[in-house]
Amino acid sequence: MKTPQLPFLGQCRCGKVRIEVSAAPIMTAACHCTGCQTMSSSAFSLTAMIPSSGFKVTEGKPVIGGLHGPQQQHYFCAYCMTWMFTRIEGVDAFVNVRPSLFDDHSWFVPFVETMTKEKLSWAQTPALYHYEAFPPLEDYEKLMGEFARQME
Ligand SMILES: [Zn+2]
Ligand SMILES: [Zn+2]
Repeated sequence: MKTPQLPFLGQCRCGKVRIEVSAAPIMTAACHCTGCQTMSSSAFSLTAMIPSSGFKVTEGKPVIGGLHGPQQQHYFCAYCMTWMFTRIEGVDAFVNVRPSLFDDHSWFVPFVETMTKEKLSWAQTPALYHYEAFPPLEDYEKLMGEFARQME
């Protein structure tokens, strides 16, 4: 994976909501679950897990959409309805940001892919780790450690 140049600047389709990332991602992923297929209107969603301290909305006011909680808060631009990022209830450490919003996303490659049991039959990503469901909690430390070594 190419070393990303911080900060990452990004925006929704219409540009009314802008975001800035000033901390390196702790992991990247593609999710094949049917919920992500529906919300992305595509085969899978892409995620850069960004430390919360390194993420901010610099312009505009995103609104809650998608499932409207309670476990996950999906944030959208209120005007163009782009799905921008997701916060998980009870997880303050990181925010899941959609990397296709970044002006430069050439560095992005999904490191893990999740929910492959629901994937479209032809859908493939270059992820190194594949999970039929979501990774068990005990795998995260190992995955994040290996991801960090890849980014060095
Ligand atoms: Zn917008
Ligand atoms: Zn998903």
